Amino acid sequence: MLLLLNSYPLLVSENMVFRSKVTTMQSNVSVMVYSLSGLDRLNEENVAAAMAVVEETGLSRILVTDAAGKVLYDTRETDSAVGKYVLYAEVVQALMGNDASSCIYQNGAFRSRASSPVLYQNQIIGAVYAYEYDTEQAALLAGLQGNLLRLSAFIGVVVLALSLFLSMALTKKIGNLLTAIRQVREGAYSHRAQVSGRDEIAQIGQEFNSLTDRLQTTENARRRFVSDASHELKTPLAAIRLLSDSILQTDNIDPETTREFVADIGQEAERLSRITEDLLRLTRLDNSILDPPVAVDVLPVLEQVMRMMSLVAQEKGVDLTYEAADGCTVLATKDEIHQVIYNLTDNAVKYSGAGGAVQVSLKAAGNQVVLSVADNGAGIPEEDLPRIFERFYRVDKARSRAAGGTGLGLSIVSDTVKRRGGTVSAANRPQGGAVFTVCWPRMEGGPA
Ligand code: ADP
Repeated sequence: MLLLLNSYPLLVSENMVFRSKVTTMQSNVSVMVYSLSGLDRLNEENVAAAMAVVEETGLSRILVTDAAGKVLYDTRETDSAVGKYVLYAEVVQALMGNDASSCIYQNGAFRSRASSPVLYQNQIIGAVYAYEYDTEQAALLAGLQGNLLRLSAFIGVVVLALSLFLSMALTKKIGNLLTAIRQVREGAYSHRAQVSGRDEIAQIGQEFNSLTDRLQTTENARRRFVSDASHELKTPLAAIRLLSDSILQTDNIDPETTREFVADIGQEAERLSRITEDLLRLTRLDNSILDPPVAVDVLPVLEQVMRMMSLVAQEKGVDLTYEAADGCTVLATKDEIHQVIYNLTDNAVKYSGAGGAVQVSLKAAGNQVVLSVADNGAGIPEEDLPRIFERFYRVDKARSRAAGGTGLGLSIVSDTVKRRGGTVSAANRPQGGAVFTVCWPRMEGGPA
């Protein structure tokens, strides 16, 4: 770029000087040829007389030769060529009847030459040759060259300083980012990259920070899950241990108490297996290990769950009713749908208690299949609603445990439904009680 800046203007101005020189020289020579044009023969005297009236043109040398190339007139006083033959290329060209001109730039000077034949009745009777040695314009050009060079040097230094500054700033930013990446890789999830500005590096930094935010959230959730899971597993294990120790360490324990303790042990073991089953189900959902979906008509599955749950509801004194429509086909598996309806209905029956009423409804609405499970129990405190689908989250731990809950039922519902592109929400009914609504994408034209 700088090279171009240096050479292009010089080349252009040199070219312009060349062209103007050639034109001026040629017009000068034409003037001289014109003043010689009345002569039928050229000799030293008549040429000198004719040339005497030609205006001073500032040329370095003017030669007039006869048709043979012998010099008749020479403006150079020392070492004059008068009487000698000259064989300059331009003179030879002129004697052959052509105009000739040239201009070169050499050693800080423009050397321009031009020549033309002198004709008398279409006969070449001689030639005029002019030569100019110009250092003035050459000095101007050299000055321009010098200025350009200084300008380029200045630009070069500024560009170098600027790129040095920029690369240092860039290196520092990348260094900061690398440090942050290493820190986070070592497990310091709370570390954030210090980035300022709006350039790409800053954007990478911001992206990295939001990535780390997510990583930290996931890591926190994972830790909480592991600690919650171990706590959940520990409780029934501790109970089993306590019960078995009691049986072993109590002397003369009566068979009735033993039977009671063993029954309790059985219940705790059952709870353990329920929790591990739920955990396994969630892990499978987390790892996206899903059976391939098929078109499932929800209605027969719902009826099956209702048949099973009505016995449980009856036992607890809960009135379980349902209404369902045809044409509710979704892409999932039968087991998943069963699990979702079962978990929600089981909760509704569990948390509405004796004298409660649970209504389940299934309908197709537009391109969705909507399942709602409503009860008239205590409902869910508003502040707990947003967290109700979290793993192990319970509003009333004691009540949930007493009811045999694992705290995982709703998160299984939520994960299962979401994996198939659906949504699930919880709300409180104005007349009291909770309502859970599941929406699946509806499959058009599925089996009725
Ligand atoms: P659990 O095994 O404890 O029932 P879930 O994940 O199924 O776990 O439910 C989480 C919590 O949500 C429950 O502990 C309970 O506090 C609350 N909950 C769920 N369903 C209902 C409902 N129908 N009415 C009131 N509270 C409910």
